[in-house]
Amino acid sequence: MDKLSKRTRAVHGGTRRSQYGEVSEALFLTQGFVYDTAEAAEARFVAAGPDEFIYARYGNPTVRMFEDRLAGLLGYEDCFACASGMAAVAGALTALLKAGDHVVSARALFGSCLYVLQDVLGRFGVEVTLVDGTDNAAWDAAIRPDTRLVFFESISNPTLEVVDMRHVVQAAHRVGALVLADDAMATPVFSYAAECGADIAIISTTKHVDGQGRMLGGAICGSREMIRGPIESYMKHTGGAMNPFAAWTHLKSLETIDLRVRAQAASALQIADALAGHPRITALRYPGHAAHPQQALALAQAESGGTVLTIEVAGGREGCFAFLNRLEVFTISNNFADAKSIATHPATTTHQRLPQAQKDLLGITPGLVRLSVGLEDPADLIADLRAALG
Ligand SMILES: *Cc1c(COP(=O)(O)O)cnc(C)c1O
Repeated sequence: MDKLSKRTRAVHGGTRRSQYGEVSEALFLTQGFVYDTAEAAEARFVAAGPDEFIYARYGNPTVRMFEDRLAGLLGYEDCFACASGMAAVAGALTALLKAGDHVVSARALFGSCLYVLQDVLGRFGVEVTLVDGTDNAAWDAAIRPDTRLVFFESISNPTLEVVDMRHVVQAAHRVGALVLADDAMATPVFSYAAECGADIAIISTTKHVDGQGRMLGGAICGSREMIRGPIESYMKHTGGAMNPFAAWTHLKSLETIDLRVRAQAASALQIADALAGHPRITALRYPGHAAHPQQALALAQAESGGTVLTIEVAGGREGCFAFLNRLEVFTISNNFADAKSIATHPATTTHQRLPQAQKDLLGITPGLVRLSVGLEDPADLIADLRAALG
């Protein structure tokens, strides 16, 4: 399997067939597993083999198929599948940190990630330094000899700031700190976390893996030692495991992820080209487009800018809401990476609870709209956006 391309591995990776030889992956909707004898039960609790399961909170054959398939797609040895992206973020951080540890994190983060880092870890005595993730000198200055862990979104949600991952990984590894990349925006198809040396990539599989707005899920990917060591120990005893039905839909979704994400990314670029310079838009950002100040870095790290772009609509909140309310093909919602195109107003929804000063610092302005590009005909999407802009 290792010799095959990622696209092929996304179709076949991790497959485990039952005695019936089914073509489509079986859904093992079971929490428990039976043992032939009491001795066999005892032996499995001492050391379970790779195809031996104990309890679905620890692992399940359908979930394991998904874990292996996703790890292969991302270029990591192993993966632990979680109930949601946030279960993965909170689980990985809590599994690896203790009181007194120092963490350096990019400040441009998804609201819930910021809550876990500042509010939750803060209560347990973890010191967190927030930096401008686009500023390599700021990373160098903040990472100290006693820094235990570095965290960032490889491309930030929603402001699409790009972290120079090779630089940050090098700075972190120089002091022996672990690097955790929240890779939701980068997409599993274009992910470069493994290539750049991030120790762990965390994925909200709710996004591009499901890709059809159905299932919550998350995943922690890394070396076998890390995943089957501290991560599995923490996750299996604290209950953040993915359920088998979510794993099964995710397995089927991985079969099409390469086609879907490439089509969505191509449409996103077309939309960026079509809207750039529009008189009702005061700023446009897409990591793969010249209007993004970090286009060169974005395209040096990844083959594509992904499936999400942002625009700033003229006229502040009022102009922005009028635009959103006129959209007919784009739906107003707060997920992204769905087959259906979605427009989000971060300042009043996903990032509402941030203090105004932090919104200002991050560029989450009243006119900012996050556009998640779906699988519709891009011509329809462009016409919809143009009509709504007026
Ligand atoms: C959506 C998202 C999460 C959380 O994922 P859920 O599956 O909604 O829990 C975490 N980080 C980033 C960057 C996200 O976009």
